[in-house]
Amino acid sequence: MPEGHTLHRLARELNEAFAGTMPQVTSPQGRFAESAALVDGRLFERAWAHGKLLFVEVGGQTIHVHLGLIGKFQIAPVVGIEPPVNGVVRLRLLNEHRVADLRGPMVCDLVTPEEVDALVTRQGPDPIQPGADPVPAWERIHRSGKSIAELLMDQTVIAGIGNIYRCEVLFRQRVGPAYAGKRIKRTSFDAMWSDLVRLMAVGVQTGRIITVEEDLEAAERDIATGRIKPEYDRPNYVYQHDGEPCPRCGSRVRTRVLAGRNLYWCGGCQRRT
Ligand SMILES: [Zn+2]
Repeated sequence: MPEGHTLHRLARELNEAFAGTMPQVTSPQGRFAESAALVDGRLFERAWAHGKLLFVEVGGQTIHVHLGLIGKFQIAPVVGIEPPVNGVVRLRLLNEHRVADLRGPMVCDLVTPEEVDALVTRQGPDPIQPGADPVPAWERIHRSGKSIAELLMDQTVIAGIGNIYRCEVLFRQRVGPAYAGKRIKRTSFDAMWSDLVRLMAVGVQTGRIITVEEDLEAAERDIATGRIKPEYDRPNYVYQHDGEPCPRCGSRVRTRVLAGRNLYWCGGCQRRT
């Protein structure tokens, strides 16, 4: 499943492609056809994301998109004629220069302003949004008997975190994934939140989840100088490294299913509450 940085990048790419233009809006598959007709040929105002939710504002209406596990929203250049439709396309945006095809989303609906508010209010703070207030996330974690590893995956606690960021931020801050939220110290929470803000900002800029400190620093330098590399050597510490030695203490990296996804952690050096 895409993590929050993917949706923020997608919003940015949609804005670059369509903002200020009046794209054709269609549903080649048909399931979104009636709604598409309402906004077809109208002004594309903006796209924006909160966590894993994407909103596209066209012609005074808002389209809510959730990619879910398999959804893809792909933007491509248009050269001459309209590109043929490949596969099952729920939503197509098309102007003179760009085409964006949405396939396999969990959600693609027109929503009212009240529904947008309700959807966003249910989400936790999003570390990618500048100035996001982490306190509501701390309040939830601080009062919960669920494990911190489970809470980090809950979009109503913090929006946009998926399995990779979950595993890696716990490792980076040496926090034991099985500890209950109510046992986590405020200093640990603050360290994880600041780290997520930093990690996910690099994710938005590079399109990659880079969590190994040296790579992260290199990526930050690349971003500052406008020279983002196509690849980084070993972008993660523990995610999908089960059975290998921990890069920090040499213990074996372990895995087990938690909150529906494989958690990866080091039992040797992740002991902080
Ligand atoms: Zn370790």
